[in-house]
Amino acid sequence: MEKILTRNWNVEGGHTLAHYRSSGGYEAFRKALGLTPEAIIDEVKLSNLRGRGGAGFPTGVKWGFLPRESDVPKYLVINADEGEPGTFKDRYIMERDPHRLLEGCLISAWALGLKATYIYIRGEMVFGAEQLEAAIEELHEAGLLGEDIQGSGLSHDIHVHRGAGAYICGEETALIESLEGKAGQPRLKPPFPAVVGVFGCPTIVNNVETIACVPTIIERGGEWFAEQGSERNGGPKLAQLSGRVKNPGTYEVPSGLNLREFIFDEAWGGGILGDGALKGVIPGGSSCPVLTPDEIDVGMDFDQLMKAGSMGGTSGVIVISEDVCIVRLAARTAHFYHHESCGQCTPCREGTGWVARILDEIEAGRGRMEDLDLLLEICDNVEGNTICPLGDAMAMPVRAFLMKYRDEFEQHIREGACPFPEW
Ligand code: SF4
Repeated sequence: MEKILTRNWNVEGGHTLAHYRSSGGYEAFRKALGLTPEAIIDEVKLSNLRGRGGAGFPTGVKWGFLPRESDVPKYLVINADEGEPGTFKDRYIMERDPHRLLEGCLISAWALGLKATYIYIRGEMVFGAEQLEAAIEELHEAGLLGEDIQGSGLSHDIHVHRGAGAYICGEETALIESLEGKAGQPRLKPPFPAVVGVFGCPTIVNNVETIACVPTIIERGGEWFAEQGSERNGGPKLAQLSGRVKNPGTYEVPSGLNLREFIFDEAWGGGILGDGALKGVIPGGSSCPVLTPDEIDVGMDFDQLMKAGSMGGTSGVIVISEDVCIVRLAARTAHFYHHESCGQCTPCREGTGWVARILDEIEAGRGRMEDLDLLLEICDNVEGNTICPLGDAMAMPVRAFLMKYRDEFEQHIREGACPFPEW
């Protein structure tokens, strides 16, 4: 398979402008300057590129929501917060191939008439932020950023903004609040950011990988990009493997690759650590409902995973082997979301903690049988009743663990102890 997104990752100096240009970098931007904004947006629509930050919303359609004629400036905000457990792909783009992202920003700026781009990067990703800043400096020196770039009439600048490590700032409106210097708490929608975004101006918020795909779409054409994936899910994508698998890592795969193949094939995961049995798979990051071993003959794209009862999310695949305690995993998941709740909505603020505490008790062997239905009831009351999807992100996986592995929860309660080893 031809490498697109990871082409420069393991190349000496692959992150530099000199290397990026020597392999055809910024030719797509040059080509874009010869196209009308409408033609670029049409090409992105044709590519079937869908948001790689988890939601999977069609990128070209999202771009179409931005008002064409506007007296106020318009902005692009790159969501580089990457906080979903099991997800570790955007950081590699920024560390190893920052110019792919920056070229995507420039093409987007031309297509959408944007004044500036803000890259909101998770504060802990110091190396990624430094690589981006160095790459932006290179662009200024090469005359590819600033006023009237290459005599095109496009004036644009790109700024790196480091966050403080809150998971909720991966939610686009919380990210915008944080970028404006306020506490990172999600806003009620509507209005959506495309109408009222950062500094009260129309704003498109896109994920790092999403925008890093744009140069290839312009270079090869939307139709070509669409053909690299499955139906309605265009292109190659970055998928991550973690948990109890032999070869964890970030891989470039065609959208729609079979999930079982991804875990067991020697080219990817290579099978379960210690050759144990598979107990379950979380296919797209910790907020996605778990799939049982008989449910993983499914393509890794948004539509097929939705049909299988889970979600594509960020393609952060977490492998669970037979020796993993599902109750402990459910408790860890609930604790994470409770810790990251911004506290604005009662169902999320109280519900996530309540679920975490009940799960702790069950894991410690102090649970009651009636707790199991209580957990389901709390999840039902949290999901769909909050400002942002963080509440759902706790409720959906916990409910799936409980419904698919109920025997294991009951075993903890019956035996008054956790039957799995600590590790
Ligand atoms: Fe905050 Fe949770 Fe409400 Fe989202 S769902 S706004 S994180 S309290």
